[in-house]
Amino acid sequence: CPLGPALLFVKMSQGKEEGRRFYACSACRDRKDCNFFQWEDEKVSETRLAAREECNRNRQPSFTHRQNVERYKSFVLLPLSKRKFCQECQQLLLPAEWEKHCGHQFLCDISIAQLKSPSQLLYPLENKKTNAQYLFADRSCHFLLDLIIALGFRRVLSVGTPRLHEMIQSKASQKEDFSVRSLLLDIDFRYSQFYTEDEFCHYNMFNHYFFGGEAAHETCRKFLYQDKGERVIMVTDPPFGGLVEALASSFKKLMTMWRETKKEGHDNQEMPVFWIFPYFFESRILEFFPSFSMMDYQVDYDNHALYKHGKTGRRQSPVRIFTNIIPSMIVLPVEEGYRFCTICQRYVSSGNQHCEICNSCTSKDGRRWKHCALCNKCVKPSWFHCNNCNCCALQDHACERTEAGCFVCGKAGHKRSTCPSLSLT
Ligand code: SAH
Ligand code: ZN
Ligand code: ZN
Ligand code: ZN
Ligand code: ZN
Repeated sequence: CPLGPALLFVKMSQGKEEGRRFYACSACRDRKDCNFFQWEDEKVSETRLAAREECNRNRQPSFTHRQNVERYKSFVLLPLSKRKFCQECQQLLLPAEWEKHCGHQFLCDISIAQLKSPSQLLYPLENKKTNAQYLFADRSCHFLLDLIIALGFRRVLSVGTPRLHEMIQSKASQKEDFSVRSLLLDIDFRYSQFYTEDEFCHYNMFNHYFFGGEAAHETCRKFLYQDKGERVIMVTDPPFGGLVEALASSFKKLMTMWRETKKEGHDNQEMPVFWIFPYFFESRILEFFPSFSMMDYQVDYDNHALYKHGKTGRRQSPVRIFTNIIPSMIVLPVEEGYRFCTICQRYVSSGNQHCEICNSCTSKDGRRWKHCALCNKCVKPSWFHCNNCNCCALQDHACERTEAGCFVCGKAGHKRSTCPSLSLT
């Protein structure tokens, strides 16, 4: 499909043991965005193949990355008064194109500073099911970058983290002694207007597809290979509706790409990773990456009303950092309400009490959790043990069991829409 190789899904039907397998778009879960569909065993006629190829071609961006780089070069040479950005087409315009965009809203006098912060210039794509672009609040972005520097990393593979990439790029261009470099991999092609082929690759993280083909692949490989692969970290913040399995498979491929840089010895090592994702996906992520652990740090976003830091009286963010770096090395800011637990050997939310029975700081959401002897684990403070369900739940839950596991937490007993992990209360 236009977004690269499709993924193989299975459709289960009631009363049947085995489901029927089909291919669909890896990234768009809404048929409106991409309606690619094919049964696994379906024979596709020549005409349909041709139509499909035609359709894929039509969905290609109007300029190539190379063209966009050339356009950028001409754009910065223009006097300020001639630097216009079409908000409708989300495109930097050269004077000859103004007419074609007549009637569209322009931003004028685009400064160099604006060109260096494209994530502010472009509007965030909020299409929930596809892009879900939630940009880091300044505080979180600074925290991440400071942490990366403190841990001694010099290169960041930014997978779906345009704002972090932008912060690194702009520091690198301002300060000579700033030695961190970043390569952005993202599906949002608008960024190709602002970054060269060495700074940005058009990439789909659900199928590990480089739109730029072998050359882009090579750019990524080269980036990882520098310095024998030393001091590089991958930071990723995928859309939360994304399939964990597909993401994990792509990240493993990126990690393998890195491992191949290590010609001599230490092949057991893993590329260091920060995977930023909501805490209720913890068990899913650990399933694929047993070496990861979840940090208590709450990641904040600018354009997400729900995901903001609790200190200011707003709702707490459920988004965390999952990492394969030793937890004790991830220092969380005391002034933002984190403390070090000497038993767990990691920083935790100050409200996160160490449970003697579980022998760990068990809270996932920063509030103090309570231990349930029947469940033999700590649970949210608002939960009670239900003898019907044989587990803890909200007092007014419906004691119903659904056959299939929940899409979010994988547990049986409820569907995704009523997943207890999703409720913060
Ligand atoms: N917090 C990050 C942005 C995270 S939003 C920051 O501030 O830098 C998710 C990002 O993933 C967006 O940039 C979006 O364009 C990108 N994305 C969404 N689907 C993707 C896909 N299939 N492949 C690669 N990137 C994708
Ligand atoms: Zn503890
Ligand atoms: Zn406990
Ligand atoms: Zn219980
Ligand atoms: Zn019940």
